Amino acid sequence: MSHENSERDYKDPLRRYNPATSVILAGYRPRLSEYSVKVPLFRTSTFEFESAEEGAKFFERAYHLPGDDGENPGLVYSRLNNPNTEIVEDKLVAGEKGANHAAVFPSGMNAIATTVLALVPQQGKILYTNPVYGGTYFLLKHLCPVRFGVETTAVDTSDLKAVEQLLQKEGPFDMIFLETPANPILSQTDIAAISELARKYGEDKTLVAVDNTFLGPVFQSPFELGADLVLYSATKFLGGHSDIIAGAALSRVADLINSVRDYRTILGGTIASDTAWLLTRSIETLWVRMERQAQKATKVAEVLKDHPKIEKLLFPGLLSEADGQAYEVFRKQCHGPGSMITLLLKNTDQAGAYRFLDHLQIFHLAVSLGGTESLAEHPRSMTHSDMSEEDLDRCGISDSMVRLSVGLESSDDLIEDLMAALKVV
Ligand code: PLP
Repeated sequence: MSHENSERDYKDPLRRYNPATSVILAGYRPRLSEYSVKVPLFRTSTFEFESAEEGAKFFERAYHLPGDDGENPGLVYSRLNNPNTEIVEDKLVAGEKGANHAAVFPSGMNAIATTVLALVPQQGKILYTNPVYGGTYFLLKHLCPVRFGVETTAVDTSDLKAVEQLLQKEGPFDMIFLETPANPILSQTDIAAISELARKYGEDKTLVAVDNTFLGPVFQSPFELGADLVLYSATKFLGGHSDIIAGAALSRVADLINSVRDYRTILGGTIASDTAWLLTRSIETLWVRMERQAQKATKVAEVLKDHPKIEKLLFPGLLSEADGQAYEVFRKQCHGPGSMITLLLKNTDQAGAYRFLDHLQIFHLAVSLGGTESLAEHPRSMTHSDMSEEDLDRCGISDSMVRLSVGLESSDDLIEDLMAALKVV
């Protein structure tokens, strides 16, 4: 990136490659940075203009002032843009089928909240998946209605009939917010069918946003299924090493991400350049990590599924025809199962689930997911503890539920660890 590079014109030719290739090539040209093959860290808050006239022009573009010619604003100030931010945004676009624009954020929650604030008007309406990640639930259930006058309705979006009824009765909605597979119960929402319903009942205004954190661009491509926005907690698989907090929003059309960027600038949701640099490095290995983690998770799930102390094991890769709609959606929509496994322990309560968690040796007892190390947590009292009892019960997030994120350790060791902990339940 540099001043001379006003259009990111080197992005489109990369479309002919597979995303795993494009993410390595996209967004960066060594000749603009002393021929350094790898991306340097641009640790600067501000950028020098060639002339006062150029500085004024950049501001006209960045703030959409009269005189804005729609060109890329150029580098101004790191709250607005920074080479590390723009490079990682280009890589995210290159990796996500159907995406054309991206904005990165200092956390997944910041990406989600900024997108909602930017794109849903006051007195607007949002329909959202039940359950969603606990932080998203708090934003949509409490902050949106109370602080921003936005009406929000939760529904099991894997139930298309229930969604259609709501759209008929209470629509049009400004946004349908989907999380699929949903955290932590791994329910499957048919993105294509919901996008069609949004078009049918949305009076041209309903935006379909998908939190794609669990499967990432490797295993699920929401834009190809009709979504308008894709959101990530990049803290998880995109970052992949549990050493950064970051988020991203992507769109097909420029207007949406431009509005989100304007809000990001004014709310000050700026990712640090160091974090953007780490994310850049992580994305290069995303395909290898996610594919390998999914293989390991599949092995673990297959061994655990018939264990006498497990009531039910939720893992998309184990869905079969007997699971009906969920299986159909998984088959047509997902290119792989991911590496999240949710267990319901048999005949036990919170104390039994805690005993299991406390006995794990390799799995860290910690929230979050998608890192190289395996993690285990108790959704009802940890990630989803913000949810009301009623919503927890409705979604089946019981005291005996444990969520696992399978990392890159040997699957034999992971299985041994889980088997030993199951003995004490
Ligand atoms: N979306 C999902 C599905 C998540 O699991 C999380 C965090 O756990 C978030 C969003 C929020 O992301 P962050 O913690 O990066 O703000």
